[in-house]
Amino acid sequence: MKKSFFITGTDTGVGKTIATVVFGTLLKHNGFDVGVMKPVQCAGNDAAFLKKCLKLKDPLEEINPYHAPEPLSPHLAFQRAKIKIHPEKIMDTYQTLRDRHDILLIEGAGGLMVPLMNNYLVCDLIKELDAELIIVSRLGLGAINHALLTIRQAREQGLKIRGVIFSALSKKILNLPEQTNPSAIKQFGAVDVLGTIPHLDLKILSPRNILSKCSVRVHWKTLVRNMKPPAAERLSAWDKEYLWHPFTQMKDWLDGEPLVIDEAEGCYLKDIQGNRYLDGVSSLWVNVHGHRKKEINQAIKAQLNKVSHSTLLGLSNPPAIQLAKQLIEIAPQGLARVFYSDNGSTAVEVAIKMAYQYWKNTGQTKKSKIAHLKNSYHGDTLGSVSVGGIELFHKVYRDLIFETIKVEFPDFYRCSSGKKYPAYTKECLEKLENFFKKQHVSIAALVIEPLVQGAAGMIVWPSGLLRKISKLCKQYDIFLIADEVATGFGRTGTMFACEQEKVTPDFLCLAKGLTGGYLPLAATLTTQKVFDGFLFDYKDQKTFFHGHTYTANPLACAAALANLKIFQKERVLARLQPKIKYLAKGLKKFYNLPSVGDIRQKGLMVGIELVKDRTTKEPFPWEERIGVRVCQEVRKHGVILRPLGNVIVLMPPLAISMPEIDRLLEATYQSIKKIV
Ligand SMILES: *Cc1c(COP(=O)(O)O)cnc(C)c1O
Repeated sequence: MKKSFFITGTDTGVGKTIATVVFGTLLKHNGFDVGVMKPVQCAGNDAAFLKKCLKLKDPLEEINPYHAPEPLSPHLAFQRAKIKIHPEKIMDTYQTLRDRHDILLIEGAGGLMVPLMNNYLVCDLIKELDAELIIVSRLGLGAINHALLTIRQAREQGLKIRGVIFSALSKKILNLPEQTNPSAIKQFGAVDVLGTIPHLDLKILSPRNILSKCSVRVHWKTLVRNMKPPAAERLSAWDKEYLWHPFTQMKDWLDGEPLVIDEAEGCYLKDIQGNRYLDGVSSLWVNVHGHRKKEINQAIKAQLNKVSHSTLLGLSNPPAIQLAKQLIEIAPQGLARVFYSDNGSTAVEVAIKMAYQYWKNTGQTKKSKIAHLKNSYHGDTLGSVSVGGIELFHKVYRDLIFETIKVEFPDFYRCSSGKKYPAYTKECLEKLENFFKKQHVSIAALVIEPLVQGAAGMIVWPSGLLRKISKLCKQYDIFLIADEVATGFGRTGTMFACEQEKVTPDFLCLAKGLTGGYLPLAATLTTQKVFDGFLFDYKDQKTFFHGHTYTANPLACAAALANLKIFQKERVLARLQPKIKYLAKGLKKFYNLPSVGDIRQKGLMVGIELVKDRTTKEPFPWEERIGVRVCQEVRKHGVILRPLGNVIVLMPPLAISMPEIDRLLEATYQSIKKIV
C-alpha cells in the first residue's frame, strides 16, 4: 500500500520544511520507506536540505523538478527566470517517486492559493495528485483565522485533509493563544490535530534530536493508520541508525541495504525476508558441523538448566574441566595445560604474555622480543595487532603497539621477482636461522599461523617448512606460538594443522571453531615446562596476571564438548577427505577465467586471487573493490561470501555436502565471470 501527503502551510514561513523532515524522520525510524518531493521551489535550498536530512538517494532533479532563484511567488519567480512549469512533468516525477517509496511527502510552496502560473494555483496541482493534505500552522494570535481559511478552502476544492500540525517557530514561552490554538482549530475546523512540533534548532538538527523531541508530540501514526512497515525495513532502518559494523566503512554501509540473518540450518542462512543463502565462509570461519546442530543445541540447553556462568577466577566448573582434559587428549603430544579466554586475539595475547613472562620468571630477562611472520594476522586487540603484518589493517595503530621482529616468509605467489621454489623457501629458512643464531638470546617467541596464513589471503605454506621452523625454534630455545585460531578443528583436513608436520608447538591458540561456531570461547594450550615456569611462592609475584571475566563460560564449554563429540561420532575428519579432493577438482576450472591469478587451497580453506593481468600478476587497484563486488554478485546466486581484498575466500562448514560444494563453486564461478 502506498500513500502520499501534500504538506501545505497556512502561510509561507510557517515550518513546512521542518514538518516534512519531522514526519519523514519519524516514519523512517519506524521502518517506513519515505520519499519527498518539492515540486516547485523559489530560492533557498529546502529540497537539498530534505534530501540530506532524510538521507534520500533520489536525485535532486526528481525531488525538485522546478527551481527559480528569486524569493517571489512562483508565478512571478518562474516567469522572471524564463522557466515554464509543465504540470505533466511534475506528475511524471510524482509517479516515479510514489512507485519507489511507501510514503511520499510532497512539500508545497506557500499556501493553497499561491499561483504557480496563470490559472494554476497550488491547490490545482494538489487536485491532480492523489495525496491527502497536511496543513502546517504556526501558533499564536491570528493562527486560528489562517488555519480555518485554509481548511475551508481545501474542503471547497474537494481536497482530503488528514490533519493540522502545529509548529513552534521560536523558543518563546507558550502563552494562552499558543496553548489553545490546537483545540480551537480542532473544534471549529473539525479536523484531526497531528500534534505540535517544538522549536528545533536547525543547526543541530539530527535524527536523534528529532526523535527525542518529537516522538511523543507528533502523531505520525495517524498518517499510516492502516499501514504496517515491513519488519525487514524497520530492522534495516534501526541497523543503520544504531549499529557500527566491524571492518566496515560505515559510509558505504549506510548507502546500502543490510542483509539481516535471523535463522539458519545446516549450511544455510536465512534472512528476515525468507531468502536462503549457502554459508560459504562458515559465518566468518567458525561454523563446523552446520547451524542448529541438534547435539550442540541440546548441550547448550542442558547447561542452561544448570548454570550459565560462574567465574573461573577462584572457582571451577565441570564443562571447563572436561573440555580442558579433552583438548589435551586431542592436541599434539606434549601440550599439557589449557588457559581459557574469549576470542582468537586474546588466545594469542595470552600466549605472548606467557612466553614473555616465562623467561622473566626463570631469570632469562633478556629474552623479551617477539618475532612473527610477514603478512601475519593474529587479531585486532593491540597485543595481537603488534604481531600483525597486514599493512592495511595495522598501520594506523603503529604508534600504539610494541615493537616486534618481522620474519620473511616465502609467499608462493607474491614473492619478490627472481625468486624460485624451492630455493626461496630455503633462502627464507637460512635467513631465519642466521637471525636466530645472532639474536636468540633476546628472542622470547616466534608467532605463526601454521600451514595457512588466513587473513593475508589464504597463503598456503610450502610443505615441510613448518617442521623446519619448529626445529629451529627448539634448537635456539625460542618458543613457537602456533595460532590455530583459523586452522584448528579440521579446517586443513586434520584436527590441527601442526599435526600434518608432526609439530608440537609450545603454545597452541584456539578459538573460531572451538565451539563449532556457536559461542565465543578461546583456549591457549601450553606445555608442562611453561606451566612450571609460573610455579613459585605467592610472595614472588610470578603469577600469570591475566583473566577475562567470561573466561571458560560453562555454556560455551558445553558447546565445545558437544563439538568434539560430533567429530568422533560422525567421523568428521575421515569423511572430510573426499570433500577436500572434490573441492580441489572443482577449483581447477577457475583457471579458465582469465582474471584468476592463483588458487590456493588447504583442506576447506580456499583463496582465489583475482588479478588484472595473469602474466604480470598485476593486482586490481584496491579502489575497484573487485572482491567486494564479486561477493555482492554471489548473493544473487544465494551464497554468502566475504573476500579478503582481491582474494575470494571459500571456507564452508566441514559439514558441507558434495552438491552444496557444486553450488558454492558454480555461484562463485559465475559471479567472477560476470563481474571481472
Ligand atoms: C580470526 C583470527 C584471529 C582473531 O580471532 P578473533 O576471535 O577475531 O579475535 C586470530 N588469529 C587468526 C589466525 C585468525 O584467523
